[in-house]
Amino acid sequence: SALIETRGLGWAYAPLTDGGSPVVALSDVDLAVEPGRFVGVVGPTGAGKSTLCMALAGVIPELADGDMAGEVLVAGRSTHDVSVADLSAHVGYVQQDPESQLFCASVEDELAFPLEQRGVDPRLIDRRIDETLALVGMEGMRSRVPTSLSGGQMQRVAIAAALVAEPDILVLDEPTAALDPDGRREVFAVLDRLRAARRLTVVMAEQHTRYLASSCDRIVVLDGGRVLRDADPAVFVREA
Ligand code: ADP
Ligand code: ADP
Repeated sequence: SALIETRGLGWAYAPLTDGGSPVVALSDVDLAVEPGRFVGVVGPTGAGKSTLCMALAGVIPELADGDMAGEVLVAGRSTHDVSVADLSAHVGYVQQDPESQLFCASVEDELAFPLEQRGVDPRLIDRRIDETLALVGMEGMRSRVPTSLSGGQMQRVAIAAALVAEPDILVLDEPTAALDPDGRREVFAVLDRLRAARRLTVVMAEQHTRYLASSCDRIVVLDGGRVLRDADPAVFVREA
């Protein structure tokens, strides 16, 4: 059965001004992702990709104003019944802008933080940092200042920070949109490596189908907040 799932998910952002109308970002989205799958979510700007990622990561309705319909289930439990902190043990979340999600003075602090929050043994923290940095190809970069890194390196640190506490699910919101071609290649190389480690379930938003096709098992097309298609990447490649 699905590890992460939406049922009739809807989201309308609260009006920005008094008397304005709510902005409907998602309508009736049913999406079920089996364990170990890598699902790509594509669609134009405004399609609802970010909102879907936020809902899967449980940061809405927590951190944004609006109305939610339906539900998100993680390992069979509704996110309505789980705090954001508890949910973060299951779902790692990577945002589009590499810089705004890194806030520590060093790469190792960035990775230690989520583990310290959970009271993990310091000796285990040390080992976990090394293992996770190796997974994203950033070994030897522990003491670097995150903001001194390239965009691709920063995004790999953000992915490592999302993975360090060993969630079963990784949700990435257009992680390469703000990167140059080298950075984009670096991030896709990391994602391909993660995909080979079958225990991780990945949902990744991306504007361009062609970047995703070789990395994922399934592509979901969102438009106007609705699922237009849900198909094997090979179908999209044949059409291109
Ligand atoms: P995408 O990631 O595919 O570009 P989004 O999820 O960011 O799509 O946006 C979906 C819709 O919600 C768009 O119409 C967007 O303008 C609107 N929207 C996004 N964030 C907010 C917000 N904080 N307040 C109001 N409307 C928003
Ligand atoms: P556009 O026509 O929109 O400019 P391109 O197909 O030329 O897009 O690709 C832009 C950049 O993205 C190129 O530098 C290319 O090397 C890189 N790129 C294309 N496909 C992938 C992929 N699957 N993974 C990583 N980088 C890619």
